[in-house]
Amino acid sequence: MRTPLIAGNWKMNGSAELIHAFGERFRDATLPAALDIAVIPPFPYLHAAYQAFQGTPLTLGAQTLNPLNSGAHTGEVSGRMLKEFGVTYVLIGHSERRQLYQETDDHVYARTLAALNVGIVPILCVGETLEERDGGSTMDVVLRQVGHVMARLEPEQREQVVIAYEPVWAIGTGRTATPEQAQDVMSGIRAYQGEFDAQLAQQLRLLYGGSMNAKNAAELLAQPDIDGGLVGGASLKIDDFHAICQSA
Ligand code: PGA
Repeated sequence: MRTPLIAGNWKMNGSAELIHAFGERFRDATLPAALDIAVIPPFPYLHAAYQAFQGTPLTLGAQTLNPLNSGAHTGEVSGRMLKEFGVTYVLIGHSERRQLYQETDDHVYARTLAALNVGIVPILCVGETLEERDGGSTMDVVLRQVGHVMARLEPEQREQVVIAYEPVWAIGTGRTATPEQAQDVMSGIRAYQGEFDAQLAQQLRLLYGGSMNAKNAAELLAQPDIDGGLVGGASLKIDDFHAICQSA
């Protein structure tokens, strides 16, 4: 009953040429009937992507947003602007934003709210570092990150949110979480939601992220609590991204 979502996070990579190639390739691609796909390129490519993806199953995502609508914030982009460019999803609290740009749980909450207020689906990214995993605090860390946002939203807002579990030690390292490791944490996230809203827990879409690729995707996506993937490196290779979509 949960439609899978495969989202390709290009990070600070890609080109106008790659946008065009994705549009061409996915125009006639054979894909599962019930599947949502998002490509998440850097801001400057959004408009070209919006045009190139017309008539394809590809939807658009952005990598972050500023919680304000407008103002003197040089270099920032607001949700209202993303909405004008046809953006459907936005990543919030990706571990690179948390680590490299000092985004805190409070920032993540404010950005989630800003996305919801303009009708963009937030993909809330959570995950533990290797140190936290080795120290046995994986579930505490992940549920703190989830709870800081979800517990403060209204029930109808929570329904809109997608959560991506991305163990930091698996991102860009080639070291994927095993399907069991991912399933364990993700069933924990769903159970946590179930404590305050059983129906939401059933509807909530949970994505796995961290070195997902064409080879390991099927096994990860077969886990009962994994409803899709947030794919970094492999989302820049059309054949691999297409193969991941096919295994969803
Ligand atoms: P990766 O990145 O697939 O390259 O590990 C995932 C992500 O950071 O979203």
